[in-house]
Amino acid sequence: MLKAIKVRLYPTAQQEIALAKSFGCARWYWNYALNACIQHYEQTGKSLKLGVYKAYLPQLKVENLWLKEDCYSAVLQCVAINLNKAYTNFFEGRSKFPRFKSKHHKQSIQYPQNVKVVGDCLDIPKIGVVKAVFHRSIEGKIKTVTISKTPTDKYFASIVCQTEGSDNQASGDKTLGIDLGLKDFAIVHDGEQVTKHSNPKHLKRHQKNLARKQKKFARKVKGSNSRQKYKKLVAKVHERVSNSRQDFLHKLSRKLVDESQVIVVENLHVKGMVRNRKLAKSICDVGWGMFVNFLDYKLKAKDGQLLEIGRFFPSSKTCSCCGHIVDKLTLDVRGWDCPSCRTHHDRDGNAALNIRNEGIRILSDGGGNPVTADGGCVRPPTRTRARGNGQRSQKPTPYP
Ligand SMILES: [Zn+2]
Repeated sequence: MLKAIKVRLYPTAQQEIALAKSFGCARWYWNYALNACIQHYEQTGKSLKLGVYKAYLPQLKVENLWLKEDCYSAVLQCVAINLNKAYTNFFEGRSKFPRFKSKHHKQSIQYPQNVKVVGDCLDIPKIGVVKAVFHRSIEGKIKTVTISKTPTDKYFASIVCQTEGSDNQASGDKTLGIDLGLKDFAIVHDGEQVTKHSNPKHLKRHQKNLARKQKKFARKVKGSNSRQKYKKLVAKVHERVSNSRQDFLHKLSRKLVDESQVIVVENLHVKGMVRNRKLAKSICDVGWGMFVNFLDYKLKAKDGQLLEIGRFFPSSKTCSCCGHIVDKLTLDVRGWDCPSCRTHHDRDGNAALNIRNEGIRILSDGGGNPVTADGGCVRPPTRTRARGNGQRSQKPTPYP
């Protein structure tokens, strides 16, 4: 199993310069190769193969001596491989078209080999022995190391190691249904009881501070020192928001995964929801997608399973008691009585229980076709997939 560990690095002033040079070389080669790919496509209508732009390297190093002197050669090989990956992800509809890299954004380089852990330090080729803070021990064989610099001038190394087997911690075996929302972040039903986890609204807590600093930043003269300073301050607020969001999502997903073996969630169409401009900010801030990803990889590590059920499944409108589906249920209705069996439902708990039941039904069905209880007609397109093996269902458009 692959495991990634992120450590903070504290390079010396000299090492910072060496890192800046390496970042520069990797960025320059990425942009050069991407440009070559785009031009080749414009001229021939075909994409350039990885081997072709990899083969540019020896000549480029002759023409630009700094490329050879300032950067570890395997880092440049990695750039080529990553560009190829970016193209594949684009063509298979998983991501947008690769972009040119700017020196004003986050910087990173990747080492496929030869980075060693030496005591409390990381020995990095061409950079030297850099002081690091490890929060956990590095186990297994180091595969790749990615060194990055954030817009707030912090340095990190993400170390990917190959470890033997999965970490089978003794833990719960519940099946949880989770309804994700804005008011409550997650409503969890374990078959017996409902637990609500409120939405911490990370951005809202920092909104005033952010707006003030962004306004000041926007008023500074371009290229001035104080503009640089305010850019850092704005980046710092963003960093804090993102850190507290990740902290919350990691802790909650860890807790839920420790209790369970199977977790069922709704497949949310986040992209479509963000088009609702009134809610866009809250939806982006809440971090459902990141949460589902965290659940997924944490479950995989303990051989559990994440199940996403189709987004057209009427989780709120179905009675979890008798299966009756009501026609209408507006968002302001927090509780309702089933017209068929007279059970009173709390809106959210009912939805989470329905999601859980649907997940169990699909699992016992062997992931087969969804069939209603009376054997009658099937619901609108219920797409079900286990996470990880599928691809995002967005159709790629050739070149922007
Ligand atoms: Zn009912």
